[in-house]
Amino acid sequence: MKRVLLVEDNASNRKLLGDLLRRAGYEVREAEEADEGVALALAGTFDLVVMDIQLPGTDGLTATRLLRAHPVTQGLPVLAVTAHAMRGDEKRILAAGCDGYVAKPVAYKQFLAEVARLLAVGRDAVADPVAGGVTR
Ligand code: MN
Repeated sequence: MKRVLLVEDNASNRKLLGDLLRRAGYEVREAEEADEGVALALAGTFDLVVMDIQLPGTDGLTATRLLRAHPVTQGLPVLAVTAHAMRGDEKRILAAGCDGYVAKPVAYKQFLAEVARLLAVGRDAVADPVAGGVTR
């Protein structure tokens, strides 16, 4: 069973996305803030992180940069979830090291498809466009 770390401060969003992932067959660990999420990611064995970008304290982009900077989590795929639906933000999000991007309100099918895609290709394929024709 694939393990997903869900970092989201909003309780109802966390429940919604968590339930969605669990119903889709994933094992889900939830974190309310970035620092907790980063600590869990470094200690645990996760296959994917779903990262809310707007978080109190350390924000999701800073947390993603921390994950990218650490050898343990360098290759861990990160799917960003954000209320900001602007194109410029997508660029900023990908530049921070996120591998995908879903805007709130989250379209369930698109969200689960993106989760499945990132779990399938991982980070290595994403980082090397030549390998699988995958572009960021
Ligand atoms: Mn939030």
